[in-house]
Amino acid sequence: MKKDDEFWFEDGNLIIVAQDVEFCVYKGPLVKNSPVFRDMLTLPQPAEAGELVHRPVVPVPEHPTSFRHFLREFMAGSGFQSPGDEPAFEVVCAVIRLGHKYEVDRMVEKGLGYLKKQWPDDYLGWSLQSNLASARSWASTLFAERCISVVNIARLTDTPSLLRPALFECCTIDPHVLLKGYQCEDGVRERLSAEDLTRVLLARTELVKLDALTALRILRNPSSECYDHDNCTQACQDAISELTESPLPSRVFSADPKRPSWYECVARTQYPSFCDACLTDIGRMENEERFEMWNMLPSILDIPEPEF
Ligand SMILES: [Zn+2]
Repeated sequence: MKKDDEFWFEDGNLIIVAQDVEFCVYKGPLVKNSPVFRDMLTLPQPAEAGELVHRPVVPVPEHPTSFRHFLREFMAGSGFQSPGDEPAFEVVCAVIRLGHKYEVDRMVEKGLGYLKKQWPDDYLGWSLQSNLASARSWASTLFAERCISVVNIARLTDTPSLLRPALFECCTIDPHVLLKGYQCEDGVRERLSAEDLTRVLLARTELVKLDALTALRILRNPSSECYDHDNCTQACQDAISELTESPLPSRVFSADPKRPSWYECVARTQYPSFCDACLTDIGRMENEERFEMWNMLPSILDIPEPEF
């Protein structure tokens, strides 16, 4: 057993033991704000024969790191303050999970607020986030598996608004990585439930199909505004054969919304050139298709339609 460096108050009146770390803290705030601790600590303490028990000792099953995040937020309301002022993902998750377990609602709400900002359930917010993915440290491609934790937290706390963006992001993860799960800092490996995993794998197939259909729809015919009809008819045909017949197409069909857009693909020089009117139309149609896809996600993912 070792005393925690940060949470060991000599005049504390409660010892909490998380694995091999002891925290000596104050009972009052925990009893006041956590119904679970209140129940635990108002039970009669087993008194040693002839000895007055000054400090009840409560074992908790959490990893010391997670429990420290919880205490930091609980005692000082500062668990989320970390370098750069952006709360670390792991801290937010620990605070939500422990806040939920010990029924400290304000902590759960605060933590969920951060997740909802990063995984917004509205088209505009989601588009911004997915376009700025490289600037979003939490969900950069390096850490895409974090959305597994977000799905599990959405389930744990019954927060349906996180489901669409987080499950959708799960569809972009390599299935091998998805099966392996996300390794959290406390050593726990987070995996999707069997139901959510099935949901994601089925949706992934559906999204690849939608992507292919989108390409066929937007590259089928020149725009009605086209000013070089013969050229653009040929360009449409060539673009479709390149995608469907080339052994190495310039862009494969994919479930990942961060893939290059069809507009970007056809605007590239190796493609036969479309006239400007057609290019504009391709961009417009693709945006419409993307919006449509976002609206279809609840049905594709088999989750409840959002209520606004
Ligand atoms: Zn044209």
